[in-house]
Amino acid sequence: MISIAPDTLSRALAAFAAIVGPDNVWQGAEAQAAYADAMAPRDPATYAPVAAVAPASTEEVQAIVRIAAELGVPLWPISRGKNFGYGGAAPRLPGVVMLDMIRMNRILECNVDMGYVVVEPGVGFDDLYHYLVDNNIPLWISAPAHTWGSVLGNALERGVGYTPYGEHASKVCGMEVVTADGSLLRTGMGALEGSGTWHGFPYGFGPSWDPAFMQSNFGIVTRMGLWLMPAPRQTVNLAMQLPRVADLPPAIDALRPLKLDGTVQANPSFGNVIRNLATRGPRSEHYQGSGAMPADVLEAARLRAGIGHWNFSIRLFGDPEINAINARKVRAAFAGAVDAEFVESEWNGGDLRNSGHPVPSLGALGVVDWLGGPGGHLTFSPVSAFSGAEAWKQYTTVRAMFEDAGFDYYGGFTAGQRYLNHITMILFNRTDEAMCVRANDLFVRLIDVAAANGWGEYRTHTLFYDEVAASYSYNNGALLRWNEKVKDAVDPAGIIAPGKMGIWPRRYREAGR
Ligand code: ADP
Repeated sequence: MISIAPDTLSRALAAFAAIVGPDNVWQGAEAQAAYADAMAPRDPATYAPVAAVAPASTEEVQAIVRIAAELGVPLWPISRGKNFGYGGAAPRLPGVVMLDMIRMNRILECNVDMGYVVVEPGVGFDDLYHYLVDNNIPLWISAPAHTWGSVLGNALERGVGYTPYGEHASKVCGMEVVTADGSLLRTGMGALEGSGTWHGFPYGFGPSWDPAFMQSNFGIVTRMGLWLMPAPRQTVNLAMQLPRVADLPPAIDALRPLKLDGTVQANPSFGNVIRNLATRGPRSEHYQGSGAMPADVLEAARLRAGIGHWNFSIRLFGDPEINAINARKVRAAFAGAVDAEFVESEWNGGDLRNSGHPVPSLGALGVVDWLGGPGGHLTFSPVSAFSGAEAWKQYTTVRAMFEDAGFDYYGGFTAGQRYLNHITMILFNRTDEAMCVRANDLFVRLIDVAAANGWGEYRTHTLFYDEVAASYSYNNGALLRWNEKVKDAVDPAGIIAPGKMGIWPRRYREAGR
């Protein structure tokens, strides 16, 4: 394994301190504590960084990268480092220096007429929400369940939210990127000096590179254009609780045509009973035994809580006249398909709670203490075909594997336009070593069984990059080999995030990583 010699590290850190000031450089135990995986499924020290540096501008990022390239010091860029369930801030391997861009937190532009913002990496969903609301700007954000993270970082990881703009990666338009030699490029129309369409026309001229800087280690993104949704006049929420486990397939099949033809533009998420119960309190309120909760105990807990086995809501955003037509179409599609009724509510302006505009919240993080805590979680998230039968096969396969390993199945299916994100979480107690081993083993088995069925993850925990990358194995791993060819061309020494998404640069491959 490649490690940085102590005197090389000292020289690098001294040079970094000269760029960003000594207060913005950390090392040793301080850096490990700040950037270790807070939800780690194994000893977080085994993949913690040796140091961290926090620049305040693109120019400082460039200067840091030039020093790192000169000295062969690997950097791990993060925006806000809140990628919980997928590794948090932690790097793939120990011994790297974190490039923490949380101080680069400016909203550089907000174009209300064109409906976009340009943000730096440190801008959180909360920051953007408050900026828009406090300034009465009629644009809405889309955010994942907890809003602590970075708008830019989440889009780079292809995170998902719950408005019509919920497929965040598809709303990215135009980036500024620092490459591994410290130079700067702008993608798309940004490459044309004086262009006014950098954040309007996503493609530019020639190959488009925005997608290639997502879930990759080809560059450090220092700014990003992101389209925002014009505030709707009204939202209508149609919530449904499905009482039986087997209600999932007909509900998914009822939704598919509505997503396909655009009647439903947001991403409804079918969450299972444990996903709902875990937001209400610890498991010990229902069950004190070990292993997965038995079916009869779970059913009793479900009835006590007054919830469905699957719970979801379809939110319509837009003009009242159109929402009324679409709500009728939704009700008609589900009538007869499942034996449950929608509970309907409307938002017509004013207080944004329950509007569908994601108000800042960390509530979603509480679920990790389901087993009493201190809790951790590993998110296993395979893509499913948008079909009741396929989702059912994936659900029953994954659930059985969770339960065989002694874990409750916590999961849900979030609907894209032509696919489902099956997002499951292995919830464990971080201080229970045997349970952590079980969680890690289960994860590896899940990757293998999924791949054998033709299913792949849309995103994964830092610790499992190699296994997931290897499962995308068509033609003897042609895609991974292509990615590594690109990496070798742009960053053979591995200055930027070596090993991210299983992409190892030549220097690391030759050293056996
Ligand atoms: P968030 O705070 O939104 O969860 P993170 O900062 O944790 O996002 O980023 C998640 C991952 O995405 C990081 O570990 C890193 O691999 C990658 N990443 C984040 N920001 C950048 C960036 N500006 N440039 C390149 N890669 C990034």
